[in-house]
Amino acid sequence: MHELSLLENVREILESHAQSQNFAKVTRVTLEIGKLSCVEPEALRFGFDVVMQGSLAEGAELVITEASGIGLCRQCGRQSVIETLYDPCAECGCPYVDVVQGAEMKIKDLIVI
Ligand SMILES: [Zn+2]
Ligand SMILES: [Zn+2]
Repeated sequence: MHELSLLENVREILESHAQSQNFAKVTRVTLEIGKLSCVEPEALRFGFDVVMQGSLAEGAELVITEASGIGLCRQCGRQSVIETLYDPCAECGCPYVDVVQGAEMKIKDLIVI
């Protein structure tokens, strides 16, 4: 389950932010999952408490939001919503579309004390 390593990554980011921004505890973490990232919300919820145990985010609330996939067409230059990494441009049908949003998971918001 790659979600566990993603969560370990999140924990490391939180720990380094805690040092540079001077907070001691995280009470809520909002993670944004891109629709194209193949990260499973269920698996994240399942792993969160375990991975955060013993860290500054132990017992923190987890909020998950979704970001839709957006592609930028190489031919017409327009952006459109895409459901998979291989969708063609919705405007002109060109198959060469670069993903500009939705391929990753990121930390969107933190509540710290
Ligand atoms: Zn997975
Ligand atoms: Zn296009």
